[in-house]
Amino acid sequence: MPFAAVPPGAVIGILGSGQLGRMLAVGASRLGYRVHIFSPEAESPAAQVASASTVADYGDDEALDAFARGVDVATYEFENVPVAAVERLAALVPVRPGAGVLSITQDRLSEKDFIRGTGAVTAPYVAMSGPDDAGIAAREIGFPCVVKTRRLGYDGKGQRHLGRTGALGGSPDEALIRAWTELGGVPCIVEGFVDFVTEISVVLARGGDGAIAAYDVIQNEHRAGILHTSVVPARIPAAVADAAEAVARRIAGALDHVGVLAVEMFVTANGGVIVNEIAPRVHNSGHWTLDAATTDQFEQHIRAVCGLPLGGTSRLADAEMTNLIGEEIEGAARVLTEPNARLHLYGKTDARPGRKMGHVTRLFPKSS
Ligand code: AMP
Repeated sequence: MPFAAVPPGAVIGILGSGQLGRMLAVGASRLGYRVHIFSPEAESPAAQVASASTVADYGDDEALDAFARGVDVATYEFENVPVAAVERLAALVPVRPGAGVLSITQDRLSEKDFIRGTGAVTAPYVAMSGPDDAGIAAREIGFPCVVKTRRLGYDGKGQRHLGRTGALGGSPDEALIRAWTELGGVPCIVEGFVDFVTEISVVLARGGDGAIAAYDVIQNEHRAGILHTSVVPARIPAAVADAAEAVARRIAGALDHVGVLAVEMFVTANGGVIVNEIAPRVHNSGHWTLDAATTDQFEQHIRAVCGLPLGGTSRLADAEMTNLIGEEIEGAARVLTEPNARLHLYGKTDARPGRKMGHVTRLFPKSS
């Protein structure tokens, strides 16, 4: 059902205060909106560039209600915002995407079930809620495999990779139980290891009227579970790119999603596309759009949640985006001397290992 547009000048509320919220706030301000950030974090890359911020816990109902009263529409920058907080806000103000999308995507089990339900392919998986499930996981999934926490995993956190020899030094069941225990003994899934040739993602936006605008398929390299580099166009056959986009469009439609959505996938040697996970938000692999697309993903998300027409998604140049992680920030100034590079820093002070501090996009003549 299309909704009335939230006009420029209105206030957009964003739950979450990291770099994604920061870049959303910049995109929103370029369109004349004001932004109010809500987050429990005192250090807030997003609040630095927003017109208002609330530092409070997501369980603080009074703070949530006051926030809702001060904004015209709300959205979130990451999928681990508690569903209850979004439901509470949604009683007072439109929240896009909605709580339903959030609850599906913040649990890897419901997310994978949902993906399968759209007809897309996933790695084989089973739930592992406790040691009693180890036998069935060992039989049905076997080794190599990946044990992942159902909730709160990101950037490779909350997962253990067990190689072909995962069962050495004990029974297969014991290896799985050890991994599950190391992950905190919380509900997990055990997933078959995908022998992929490359990883890709599709970033698209879907409006409240069901219109979809997709960017070119992106090729991603992860290191230690964290995205390192994204390249567009992906160096994959056109038929594989088309298939990937079709899968992502189907998922966005099935979710009745409003906003930007990213679908991460593996490509196998025979050209198969296997969906790994969905992010119901702007995505790190879409950062290149800031410098090399007609409309960047952040503005596109704002357009979608405010009911404005979606912008063009044409790629204006080939691009390679590299994250600056932890200490890599120290050499960042050198990027400023590169004529075809753009530097984006997130305003974070503490360069902890594994922390995304900024990114660089390098532009190349358009190849196709
Ligand atoms: P995730 O947190 O699910 O996005 O996983 C982070 C990264 O770990 C992925 O981008 C892959 O590089 C790797 N990975 C995750 N699951 C699998 C799998 N089933 N098979 C192979 N590699 C995986």
